[in-house]
Amino acid sequence: MNKPDVLIVGSGFYGAVLAERIANVLGKKVLIIEKRNHIGGNCYSEVDKKTKIEYHKYGTHIFHTSNQKVWDYINRFTEFNNYRHQVLTNYKNKIYQMPINLETINSFFKKNFQPQEAEKYINDKTKKFKKYKFKNFEDKAISQIGKELYNAFIKGYTQKQWGKSPKYLPESIFNRLPIRYSYNEDYYQQTQYQGIPKNGYKNIFINLLKNQKIKVLFKQKYNLNYKIKPKYLTIYTGPLDSLMRYKFGKLEWRSLLFKKEIKNVKDFQGTSVINYPDIKNKFTRIHEPKHLHPERKPFESKQTLIIKEYSIKNDNEPYYPINDEKNRIKHRKYKSEVSKIKKFEFGGRLADYAYYDMDMTISAALKKFEQIKKKIK
Ligand code: UDP
Repeated sequence: MNKPDVLIVGSGFYGAVLAERIANVLGKKVLIIEKRNHIGGNCYSEVDKKTKIEYHKYGTHIFHTSNQKVWDYINRFTEFNNYRHQVLTNYKNKIYQMPINLETINSFFKKNFQPQEAEKYINDKTKKFKKYKFKNFEDKAISQIGKELYNAFIKGYTQKQWGKSPKYLPESIFNRLPIRYSYNEDYYQQTQYQGIPKNGYKNIFINLLKNQKIKVLFKQKYNLNYKIKPKYLTIYTGPLDSLMRYKFGKLEWRSLLFKKEIKNVKDFQGTSVINYPDIKNKFTRIHEPKHLHPERKPFESKQTLIIKEYSIKNDNEPYYPINDEKNRIKHRKYKSEVSKIKKFEFGGRLADYAYYDMDMTISAALKKFEQIKKKIK
């Protein structure tokens, strides 16, 4: 390729959506460089060779959004099935529903409460922990659900997931799973649209990047002296600390490790994800991807694929930002440095050091496009 108009570093949703807009709307040439050997970032899906079951290589991704613009946009690149996500949790060899709802409360406390009774029961347990401002995850969780439910379903899982005591985690993480006093067990109860791409995530990215004006180079490491310079802009979607050679120190991340197993049964666990909150199981959850595609008649096959997920520390393969005060301060310093670089933009989960869901990333990319399109002429 001759000199590209725009160089994009990273082919996850942020980079791929911007590439699509820049090529299709502005008619400009885009070069994407990707450090892995595939497109799609952590949303990538592939087919397991032995079982022919498609799985999400970096953990189960459920597309869910209430953002009409994002939904309309992404539906131009894929159709979705009508999968609705449920999560179960295995505590002391008994299965409960997550997030904590009326069913969880009734079966855990062996009660048969109606909604208001359950609410009163939990309020009686939590009122002494209510404060105006919570300093950490643990305080917030106990003030919402009480100590017993916290110890059973949250404490061990969170400790394993984040590799540190919930006392040292931001309370914002707990906002992702508020308690409910109904039997609604839809994990994303509040979101309007939900599903799994019928042809897999990989194909969304293939479709996003279809324009001949977009080229992708794999196995490319980027630094500020990268050999190819674009005409107008570079859009960087990786972490800011490595870009700046760690001059303010490393940003901390949690990473994941996945271990696949093939089981000679047509259905191993009856659902796509079961969490394991006990600290004695080293993994945090078991995924069974065939459940994500009921429309593919997955139970005609006599085998199934399961994937155990382990949370590990590995800053080179970042998944979840450890968004505590110390890291946020560091990130702000990097952000202010990187903002000074000419003809250079950044964004996405890694560069923003943010716990974005897919729809938030797409929305951020669409907004970014509106901001930068005048610079690419
Ligand atoms: N969490 C928990 N127990 C569970 C599920 C979640 O303690 O069974 C906590 C844990 O701290 C986790 C957070 O809630 O990091 C957010 O969970 P979510 O399901 O949103 O995580 P994701 O699917 O994004 O990894």
